[in-house]
Amino acid sequence: MAEKKPQEGNTLAGRLARLGLRSDSDFVLHLPLRYEDETRLTPLCDARPGLAAQFEVEVVDSEIAYRPRRQLLARVRDAGGALSLRFLNFYPSQQKVLQPGVRLRIFGEVHEGYLGPEIIHPRFHVVTEGDPLPECLTPVYPTTAGLGQATLRRLIEKALARADLADTLPPALRDRLRLPEFAAAIRLLHTPPPELAQAVLESRDHPSWRRIQFDELLAQQLSLRRAYTARRARGAPRLLATASLTGALLKALPFRLTRAQQRAWQEIATDLGQPHPMQRLLQGDVGSGKTVVAALAMLHAVEAGYQAALMAPTEILAEQHYRKLAAWLEPLGLEVAWLTGSLKKREKEAAIARVGAGETAIIVGTHALIEDKVEFARLGLAIVDEQHRFGVRQRLALKEKGLFAHQLAMSATPIPRTLAMSYYADLDVSVLDELPPGRSPVTTKLVAEARRGEVVTRVREACRGGRQAYWVCPLIEESETLQLKTAEETFARLTAELPDLRIGLVHGRLKTAEKAAVMAAFVRNEVQVLVATTVIEVGVDVPNASLMVIEHAERFGLAQLHQLRGRVGRGAAQSACILLYAQPLGELARARLKVIFESADGFEIAREDLRLRGPGEFVGSRQSGLPLLRYADLEDAALVEQARAVAEDMLRDAPESAAAHLQRWLGGREELLKA
Ligand code: ADP
Ligand code: MG
Repeated sequence: MAEKKPQEGNTLAGRLARLGLRSDSDFVLHLPLRYEDETRLTPLCDARPGLAAQFEVEVVDSEIAYRPRRQLLARVRDAGGALSLRFLNFYPSQQKVLQPGVRLRIFGEVHEGYLGPEIIHPRFHVVTEGDPLPECLTPVYPTTAGLGQATLRRLIEKALARADLADTLPPALRDRLRLPEFAAAIRLLHTPPPELAQAVLESRDHPSWRRIQFDELLAQQLSLRRAYTARRARGAPRLLATASLTGALLKALPFRLTRAQQRAWQEIATDLGQPHPMQRLLQGDVGSGKTVVAALAMLHAVEAGYQAALMAPTEILAEQHYRKLAAWLEPLGLEVAWLTGSLKKREKEAAIARVGAGETAIIVGTHALIEDKVEFARLGLAIVDEQHRFGVRQRLALKEKGLFAHQLAMSATPIPRTLAMSYYADLDVSVLDELPPGRSPVTTKLVAEARRGEVVTRVREACRGGRQAYWVCPLIEESETLQLKTAEETFARLTAELPDLRIGLVHGRLKTAEKAAVMAAFVRNEVQVLVATTVIEVGVDVPNASLMVIEHAERFGLAQLHQLRGRVGRGAAQSACILLYAQPLGELARARLKVIFESADGFEIAREDLRLRGPGEFVGSRQSGLPLLRYADLEDAALVEQARAVAEDMLRDAPESAAAHLQRWLGGREELLKA
């Protein structure tokens, strides 16, 4: 990337760059936020407060006044009325223009001011009587400090005259999709005819907007599709398995795979045998049994003579995977290596050395796995659990490390279909849409904070009956220190309230060994009530725990609540999740609690989450580095679907058009989409 000079931000080029405006195409695709109607003049006597309009007036006088702030005041009039113009910020040149007798066209919103009707900071320019009015509505563009509409308009006009507006869609396709020509659509949006009502244009349902939305989605689909093809063109080792290890594991397991697990496992095994890298997402609601599928995939790689690595976003989760995999695989005679940042230096170096020498085939850890020092001897498969919780940098690092390895991502955050089609179009997806048998559904209860005492009683009863409980502390996003303090207070309070129970505390600031010790004690039922922050949100698996209490549930997001609730209901016992909430509830919090109360289906919850939050935030696109869509809406499933189909045809039948389309929309920025 080019070094940014400190003064760049203040030059015209710098300001334009801030808006992403470099090439002619960028300017052409910089579309108005709204429009103003300067094609008509309104007599001052018809001015109504709150209505933006254009007037033609004559300056009566102007002065610099102090009331109390220095400001420029001008009085103007037309045949039927008078008006004040007020400028709190102004240039000397503006003052010079406002001489008595000068004729102006002004645009702005009239307010009832101190001295009668006035417009603050109107847009104005000098005219002579009879000057023609513009023929089009005036576009108002998104801009940035120091860049005026007039400059932006002029630059866009020039770009429109110069740029290649050739259509990238053939006429037959446009007809079929009922979309207008690109050039016509773009011209209409920049310079709309006056007979078109502003409201129609601004609603973005106009066919010209549809065309732009379609083109934007098409660019996204083309780009993702191309990345997909490029990946398939890369080589990867074909992992040809013998089923010796996978067969042994399946035999040793105390349960049979669900049909969904079998299907996913088959899809993965088929991919692993291909000569290009797998890039598959294994999606399954909490508790659907993704870990065993991951274990089978790892064994498949080992049978073929390769190494397999599993990376998890937190120590607790990585440790759970490690323990589970070790318990399953060590009886089969396999060593499982453990690699996290918190290992002692010597242990870590020893583990890295064994991995580098190819002595250990199965490696589990946190992002310590993708540190530079770690060199795999023969990495054949890289698995990432809860991939969306890793940062962009870590994901890129993993991508480089495992460039020629097969990749499997696992996620318990179900992705709604339209999002999967766009943000994740580069992935193949396997879905575990079935829970293992013998689970009893979790009962969800909403309880007001005032009834906390009853909840404490309920915890006592559950533990006396031999069960265990989680107590999740209030989330305090603004401050980790405060979060910790709250967790410690909650722990102290519960310890006092439940003197006969063994209570443990786990939070993000504990040392790894301490965390592991508490978790291990909980697994052995030596700790009966686990007070925890959201560190337990993902993956933790203790089937004997049947009660989950979430304090200040109104502060949590939907996905978080669903994940937390998924920690219980893992055994045969009747389980419950109690959501303690404090009043008054905000509108959004109320909506979230209603969804989580009414639905246990992760996909349904994800859909609602998307509706409540909007797609950008849903996938954390800011973190993922994906540019947000500017004009199109991912919830517009029909349009996304069409764009996807057209992208496929286009890459096959008209690659030059596809290239031109991508160049127009993404220019040199396509790399961004692949991170
Ligand atoms: P998740 O998909 O949330 O990661 P896990 O892999 O942790 O789920 O599985 C949840 C629990 O279900 C574990 O205790 C696991 O051993 C168990 N399990 C997985 N598959 C089955 C199955 N087919 N039948 C019964 N129990 C299963
Ligand atoms: Mg899991």
